[in-house]
Amino acid sequence: MRLSDLKPGQTGVITKILGHGAFRKRVMEMGFVRGREIRVILNAPLQDPVKYALMDYEVSLRRSEAALVEVELLEIWKHAATSADLAMECREESEPDADPIPLRKDKIINVALVGNPNCGKTSMFNMVSGAHEHVGNYAGVTVGAKEGTLKYKGYRFNIVDLPGTYSLSAYSPEELYVMRYLREETPDVIINVVVASNLERNLYLTTELIDMNRPMVIDLNMFDELKRSNANLDYDSLGKMLGVPIIPTIANTGWGIDKLLDTVIDVFEMKNPDTRHIHVPLNPEIERNVTAINRVIKGDHAISDHFSPRFLAIKFMEHDPEVEKMLTDAPCYPTLMQIRESAQKSVSAKLKEDMASTISADKYGFIQGALAETMEGSIVKDEKTTKIIDTFVTNKLFGFPIFLAIMWLMFWCTFELGSYPMGWIESLVSWISGLIGRLMTDGPLKDLLLDGVIGGVGGVIVFLPNILILYAFISFMEDSGYMARVAFIMDKLMHKMGLHGKSFIPLVMGFGCNVPAIMSTRIIESKSSRLITILINPFISCSARIPIYVLLVGAFFPAHGALVFVGLYLLGVIVAVVTAQMLRKFWFKADETPFVMELPPYRIPTMRATLRNMWSKAEQYLRKMGGLILVASVIIWALSYFPHYTATDVPADFRASALSEMPASTLASQTPEQIDELIATEYQQSHSILGHVGKFVEPVVRPMEFGWKTCVSLIAGSAAKEVVVSTLGVLYVGDDDAEALSQRLKTPSKITGEPPFTQASALAFMVFVLLYFPCIATLAAVSRETGSWKYTLFTLLYNTGIAWVLAFATFHIAALFI
Ligand code: GDP
Ligand code: MG
Repeated sequence: MRLSDLKPGQTGVITKILGHGAFRKRVMEMGFVRGREIRVILNAPLQDPVKYALMDYEVSLRRSEAALVEVELLEIWKHAATSADLAMECREESEPDADPIPLRKDKIINVALVGNPNCGKTSMFNMVSGAHEHVGNYAGVTVGAKEGTLKYKGYRFNIVDLPGTYSLSAYSPEELYVMRYLREETPDVIINVVVASNLERNLYLTTELIDMNRPMVIDLNMFDELKRSNANLDYDSLGKMLGVPIIPTIANTGWGIDKLLDTVIDVFEMKNPDTRHIHVPLNPEIERNVTAINRVIKGDHAISDHFSPRFLAIKFMEHDPEVEKMLTDAPCYPTLMQIRESAQKSVSAKLKEDMASTISADKYGFIQGALAETMEGSIVKDEKTTKIIDTFVTNKLFGFPIFLAIMWLMFWCTFELGSYPMGWIESLVSWISGLIGRLMTDGPLKDLLLDGVIGGVGGVIVFLPNILILYAFISFMEDSGYMARVAFIMDKLMHKMGLHGKSFIPLVMGFGCNVPAIMSTRIIESKSSRLITILINPFISCSARIPIYVLLVGAFFPAHGALVFVGLYLLGVIVAVVTAQMLRKFWFKADETPFVMELPPYRIPTMRATLRNMWSKAEQYLRKMGGLILVASVIIWALSYFPHYTATDVPADFRASALSEMPASTLASQTPEQIDELIATEYQQSHSILGHVGKFVEPVVRPMEFGWKTCVSLIAGSAAKEVVVSTLGVLYVGDDDAEALSQRLKTPSKITGEPPFTQASALAFMVFVLLYFPCIATLAAVSRETGSWKYTLFTLLYNTGIAWVLAFATFHIAALFI
């Protein structure tokens, strides 16, 4: 926590001084050092400044300054200190020469990973923190900051994975995000990840970070690619030249990570011999003015306490909007403007170029010079394979067929191969429910377990293998770099819909889950294209809908399974395309953003990364089963179980009308007691809370002949689409506990003689499920990413409307033929 968060009377222990330059120096001289206690005495009347007791004297700080001092509450610190000391004692036995410095109580290092898109930051982050963040071989995979921790050699690393940026200007949302993050969170050490195979461009960002003058380590990642090429890099000398230690690593195998972390500790403890602050040389004409601006900013502590003046000066000269905003309110702004204007004139007169391009040319010049001295051989890496693959994959003739073949293979494996392990799990589930049916005595608990838990969760868990297979394909496409090619070949087609090739990636990802797919639309620069891509994403059939299709197809169309699956997925895509075109025509203006997307070299995903990814998906799915879906199933069960009635509660007229509707076959085959029980169950369900709700909404879906139970399952599906299946499982209870749900759905009801679904209504139901309002998580993603309830409401109403219309049409057309 920060000193400014402490309340009057509380005592904290200083763990770290953030901030910059003169401020740091001043407060440290005043006795603000790590491990010292500080107590809040009182706030000034307007909450600012605040008076503190430090050592034997009192000191007052402004809130904004106190926010730059990191503290820990005394009680917490004492506790942490004793456990840390214990840990140190144990360690010191084995390492007699351990430095005394680590004995300090403060052992937290905040680290931020900064680098170009696609240089392996997230792979590094996952490897270091054991997280399972999304990795992909194209730009723009990571959105927002992800945090993780690691305990290493007595230190706690708080690691943050940031989105990739090419520079630190305020032109794209990612760049702005990273710049603000570095300014506001002031990490202790920055790990600048660069790729060996593309050093020149990567080091541009490094020069900006050097301007920032913050403790830093360069992680030379993908060292395997450099080793394989015939180039030779003397990274030690390069590091000395830049004043930043350079450590080679291979993030997806973990090679070199220990050395990297050791170096981070060294830099943090200010013990690294290579660390020094250099000035990237600029053209003398510009340098002179940067120095002048630098001096002015240094005089204004409100600014220079937070950020490196040189960085600000250079960015100010480049007309960076964010820095401009930071400085406009400062009293020195007019002076700064004056210097810049005169500089601009003299620069454009002498150099015939604007300042921003001169500065970046100087920086690239510096990088080239440094590389010329340290790099031997060319970096023409083994791009041969990439070239060969690309001639086929992005070919005019073969590109589309290859893509379609891959998609076909993906769905074939998902449904066909997946059906074998699915069968095994299915028999396991029915074995368990048979066991419970035999062993437990009748009562509410047995009902809850059998109908609520197994009926709900058991019906859905069988789809785990299908979903894993689907994700394996999607993650392979992303990780190998194929996804970027797909965006490339689809650009033209997407353009016809008024979209962009990049919009295609979220659509393919949507086959897995719409939520990350909607988040991944952040790679799309154009606002309107991004909005359209978000709005059409829910029509892409996600994996949570697979259980519904497999269930109904298995029950009603066993012979034409493939046809129905293909038809459904295609229908989703068609509705998405038509919607996109309509949105572009009636809501958003045309947009002509050029297609700029890096096509990274192909990289074969490591087994380790793939398995890790699979495992995390499986874990997620199981957690969803054990959490959301279990809870939803139990709630649905409870709502259908209460208020509870027994056979004696059934009124005579209900009984009479049920008997009159009952088919002759039931009357002939069942004993009078069994008939009584059937009627009691029917009365129970239709008079439970859920029954009332279902019957109230039922008229809306009556035209498709969906019963009230189906209607309830659709509503419950807003929690998660799998819940549609688990709800059907809870509500359509069979008289044989081990009977599969698919069987129950086509068996005529013993009460009415009608089956829950016919072929036509099953088809209509699948169409409805495909298109109607998405689950809450997706709606939340839509609202978060569009930043407006307007679009969320649109999704809710439009999708449900389309679903109703098309389900209605499907039902009536199907009824003609079947
Ligand atoms: P980010 O965009 O910087 O977060 O990069 P990612 O972590 O998503 O990785 C980009 C791609 O590079 C993925 O396909 C990774 O599997 C791959 N990758 C990451 N580190 C290495 C490495 O050291 N060597 C090789 N060959 N590939 C890597
Ligand atoms: Mg990333």
